Amino acid sequence: MLRAWVQVRSLDNRHRRAEDFLPLAMRNALPDLFGELNALARVHSEHAGNDGSARLLVALADGQTVETVLLPRDGVCVSTQVGCAVGCVFCMTGRSGLLRQLTSAEIVAQVVLARSRRPVKKVVFMGMGEPAHNLDNVLEAIELLGVEGGIGHKNLVFSTVGDRRVFERLPQSVVKPALALSLHTTDHALRRRLLPRAPDITPDELVELGETYARRTGYPIQYQWTLLEGINDSEAELDGIVRLLAGRYAVMNLIPYNSVEGVEGFDFRRPSWARAAEMARSLHQRGVLTKLRHSAGQDVEGGCGQLRARALQESGR
Ligand code: SF4
Repeated sequence: MLRAWVQVRSLDNRHRRAEDFLPLAMRNALPDLFGELNALARVHSEHAGNDGSARLLVALADGQTVETVLLPRDGVCVSTQVGCAVGCVFCMTGRSGLLRQLTSAEIVAQVVLARSRRPVKKVVFMGMGEPAHNLDNVLEAIELLGVEGGIGHKNLVFSTVGDRRVFERLPQSVVKPALALSLHTTDHALRRRLLPRAPDITPDELVELGETYARRTGYPIQYQWTLLEGINDSEAELDGIVRLLAGRYAVMNLIPYNSVEGVEGFDFRRPSWARAAEMARSLHQRGVLTKLRHSAGQDVEGGCGQLRARALQESGR
């Protein structure tokens, strides 16, 4: 039954036969059970991007909202918390602090919601929240999606700023997801300022921990780097990235910052596309596999948390 829900399959003939073996009382309860599961996450509003993505503002049963992004090429990006305690200075979600954890069912419900709209073959845990701060629930959701949900394990991408508990728990999991690490800078002091409440792990140690996990699972680490003009787009950073990542089992994703208009304290800018492309080319030439990416749906309040913030502003909350 759980499999039918996660895969958004009606109880077809094959499942109906299985259903026939259930006690009558349980069979009668199934429609209500499906109703309750589907009520865990409902679309509050939908905003289509020009790139084939769509950002959903999703209402949870208690009225809280999170963002879920339907990505081009059968992916979905889900949230794991309402708000976030890490407080990255360039992130709207970090502004609110942590409001509450999502349950594993609420995390999976976002995938079910996405699957009711389009096929989903990849799930990235990169929406609102820090998955490492809700580790039990996120790992439970990953196990369900990997075992019952038909998602390939390397297509489940756990994204974190880096937390030692992640490197202890993930290797022991039944379903070992791929790992994305938000690096953003190779300068430890600057990283402490940009990600003020991330665990105090140096970039060198983070890369060592990541490399061990990548070798163990056979999937490369995806390093995330939000490009901020004048902050982490220097030649010194390029040298730092090469020192840390050349020869590693890793992919560097450069993601030019998505500006937040009209909000005090968000005066970061993205470098020009030409500068970003030059950085990607330079890293590539120096032995670091690098991709330059747009953040999905950036024409529709594309930074994490912007859609939710806009909706709260409009509703006066
Ligand atoms: S970027 Fe991610 S980890 Fe940082 S505050 Fe935003 S949601 Fe949290």
